[in-house]
Amino acid sequence: MYEPKPNPRKEYREQEGRRVEDSATIAQTFHSLKSLTLKLAYFRPGSFTRNSEIKYTVNLAHAKARFRFNCPNDQCVGGDYDLSAALANAVAAKETTQSGEIICQGWRCQTAIGTIRCEHTLKYTLTAAYLESGEPAGFLDADAAKVAVG
Ligand SMILES: [Zn+2]
Repeated sequence: MYEPKPNPRKEYREQEGRRVEDSATIAQTFHSLKSLTLKLAYFRPGSFTRNSEIKYTVNLAHAKARFRFNCPNDQCVGGDYDLSAALANAVAAKETTQSGEIICQGWRCQTAIGTIRCEHTLKYTLTAAYLESGEPAGFLDADAAKVAVG
């Protein structure tokens, strides 16, 4: 009988990918949010030199509220970064900026499962703007129309 070689890294990513896909969009989840920009910087374990930094404006109508980012370590198993709670907290408190860092709790590679943590670090800054009460949420219109039609 053919038994596929287990690939915990791939299985984890697929499972998490489905969970992201099943979650609502940011626009559907956080009605008060007007815009969101994100700055992400990645650091190797024990290093203070950042590997890469990206800054972008999040598309609220398409990005998912399960706000997840892949670990830059391409051998990482079971890790990655989840900014869902940081985003939810920032929106709940109507904070305009929130910064923090998350250390990847995955395993460094498939042969290090159970022994060595990945520990790549993500430093993030969320910058958010909020709708005034009564201000129409322009970006919601397209999706709202679609929902109304069915
Ligand atoms: Zn990792």
